[in-house]
Amino acid sequence: MFDVRIDDSKCTTPFLCKKCVLVCPHKIFLIGARTQERYKETDPSVPNSFILRAIYRDQCMGCKHICQSVCPNSAIDVFPFVPKKKD
Ligand code: SF4
Ligand code: SF4
Repeated sequence: MFDVRIDDSKCTTPFLCKKCVLVCPHKIFLIGARTQERYKETDPSVPNSFILRAIYRDQCMGCKHICQSVCPNSAIDVFPFVPKKKD
C-alpha cells in the first residue's frame, strides 16, 4: 500500500497542468475549484484557484511513481503507507 502527498505550494495551477492526473492508471486524482462565484467561471490560470487531491489514494499501486516523475514542480510524493500503531 502507498500514500500520496501533494504540496499545494508547488502545485498552484493543477487544472492547466494535469500531467499526474493523465498518467495515473488508477485514476486516484481529482481537481476541484477552491472557490466559486455565482455566474462566474473560475479562472484556472489564477494560482490556487483550483486544488488537486489524491482522494482515491487507497487505490495507488506505486507503479514506479510515474506521477512523481512527470510532475514538473516536484509536487508529489509517493511513499509506502505505514499504518499507525494502536496504543
Ligand atoms: S504511483 Fe502510480 S498509481 Fe500511485 S498515484 Fe502515482 S501514478 Fe497513480
Ligand atoms: S503534475 Fe505536478 S504540478 Fe501538475 S497537476 Fe500534478 S502535482 Fe500539480
